This record gives sequence, C-alpha cells and structure tokens, in this order.
Amino acid sequence: MKTTDVRVRRAIAAVAAGRPVVVTAEPAQDDDGYLVFAADAATPKLLAFTVRHTSGLVRVALPPSECERLDLPPMCSTAKRAGVGAQRVSVDWKGVGTGISATDRARTIAELAAAASCADDFRRPGHVIPVLADPQGVLGRSAGAEAAFDLARLAGRREAAVLCEIVSRRRPSAMARGAELSDFADEYGLQAISVAELAAYRRRTEPQIVRVADTVMPIRGVNSRVIGFHGVRDGAEHLAVIVGAAGPGVPVALHVHVECITGDVFGASACRCGRDLDGALAQTAASGGGLIVYLRPAGRPRACGLYDDAHEASREQLADMVTWILRDLGVSPLRLSDDAPNVGLVMFGAIPVQRRDVGRTIGSFASAV
Ligand SMILES: [Zn+2]
Repeated sequence: MKTTDVRVRRAIAAVAAGRPVVVTAEPAQDDDGYLVFAADAATPKLLAFTVRHTSGLVRVALPPSECERLDLPPMCSTAKRAGVGAQRVSVDWKGVGTGISATDRARTIAELAAAASCADDFRRPGHVIPVLADPQGVLGRSAGAEAAFDLARLAGRREAAVLCEIVSRRRPSAMARGAELSDFADEYGLQAISVAELAAYRRRTEPQIVRVADTVMPIRGVNSRVIGFHGVRDGAEHLAVIVGAAGPGVPVALHVHVECITGDVFGASACRCGRDLDGALAQTAASGGGLIVYLRPAGRPRACGLYDDAHEASREQLADMVTWILRDLGVSPLRLSDDAPNVGLVMFGAIPVQRRDVGRTIGSFASAV
C-alpha cells in the first residue's frame, strides 16, 4: 500500500476515534490547512483547542440532504454562492446561552450532527456556520469542506464534520502554511493529509466504474469482445476491446488509449493519436490477441489541434481508471511503460489472466469467440 494511503487510513482512524486531524488544501487553491474532526465528536475541550489554534470561524460541512432537513438555506442567495462549498445561514442550538463559547458551539455542532435534531432546534443567525459539501466529497469537489465530510463518512461517524483554518503562530496575522502545518500536527500528535491524497485514496479504494455493455463483434476481421464501462462518479464512458483469443494464463499485449476525436476519427495529423490507435489494433490483430483500453474522460472530449482546454483528467486519475477496468476484467499488468508522455497515457505490457477470474470474464470470452 502506498505511504500516502497509509496516512489517509490513519487519519480516518483518528476521526473515527473522535480525534482531530490536519487537512491541507491544494497549493493551487488557498493553500490553507484545516483542523478537522467529526461533528458528532465535538466536545467543549475540542472546541477550546480549535478556537485557540484556528481562525475561530468554525464551519460544519454537511451534505445537501442534511442542509435541507435542518432548513439551512444559503447565506447568500446568488446562484454562484448557493451551490456546493457555499456557507449556509449560521445557527445556534436553541438550548445554549449566547452561542459563542466553546461549550455552546460544541453543543450546537453536536446537535447539527445528531439524527434526532430538527430545523426548529436551532436559532438563526448563530455562531456556527454550516457549509454545503458536495455529496461526492473530494471526488466531486476538491476542497477542505469535502475532505472533512469524506473523513467523517469514511470513519463511520455521522456525515457532518467540523473544519476551521489553522492560524500561523509565527505570524499571528496570517494563516499557517506548509512546514508550519506539519510542525503543528507533529507537536500535537495529529495525523496530517492533503485533499489530493484523500482523493487519490478514494479513487484507488472505491470502485470507479461499472460494466454496462458486453458484446462480441468483428474488429479488423477478428472476432473481438467489446465491453463498455460507465464511470460511477463522473459519468464518463470507457471501452475495453479484447481483440482475438485470450485465455487463462496467456499473456496478452495491453494498449491504453485516450480518446482524441480529431486524431482517432478524422486521422488529423496534428497528433499521433490516430496512428497509435491504428498501430495498436493492427498489432493486436496480427499477433492473435490483445487488450485495448479506450479511455474517454468526462467533460469536453479530447481533440488535439482543436481544443486546448479539454482533457482535464490527470495522468494519475487515468491510471487509476485503467486499474479499475483491468480489475473488472480479471487481468493485472505485468509490466507497464510510457513512451508518449505528451500524448496522453499510452502503456504497453504483457498481462497475465488471473485464473480465479477466468470463468467470469476472459474465459467466457474465449469460449464465445
Ligand atoms: Zn490527438
């Protein structure tokens, strides 16, 4: 298991135990670091610690269903500020005093997380700010609120999580950054992870595709099995084409191709995508068998020479998607290499068929053709 995945698992375990963790945002965003813990673990002591080391503007990430159930409308009604990531009307639990003390806020936060709470249990405005988290967590929106929400959910706690930006001790007028966040985590024995690490962990551990179509058709004169996959998070549609014979224990060549409309369909010479795909098809057909994974990332289609802003999926995300498709097919890569770093992800390698999966996938394919 990757080192970052181990750290993420430790962070999830800490949140499950009611302890806070440090979550760092993307450097491309605000670069802030958040103190995060499950809302149903809120105690006066934990809030006192939070208020002491953070901006004090304590937020609670909640999914849309909870914001709806507890009648927490957007704080600002313009469409841009009412969606995911938007702050909702602040609240105090009706049974607390002024609502500002650590004790009062801990109670309000715990009540926001409680299944038995209802909309009438809260005064508005108050001193705790709910924030609408994307229900898909960091796989829907890469930000601190979604990371907090994910950690609480993955920890098996109620789907509500506290987050608050950590203040720099060296420069109390600024937020803590980089090494100072690591030092803070070390000093208090807290697990520290980044939003990106959590997203990568989820992509690697949660199925990202489902098989939606499966048929046999001739390709380049060779009967081939074509399998369609649907991305469960992003709705992207991918294909796996098993050309020719494939059987248990027989290594077959793997070619991973990222869709390029201009190159693949029209043979445009702006790139080598079309030639790569043609070459892979010819090679697999000539050699009697092979596997082609055809990735079609969500969003605007990749079209070399036409769009410059398409194809937002990172190479790591594409590699994770390939892994899930191979896992579904019951094959695992023996060797992967990348010979075209600027033209998407292109990997060649011999892959053995895992015997335990033969009956379910490749074996039935072999008998079908
Ligand atoms: Zn291309």
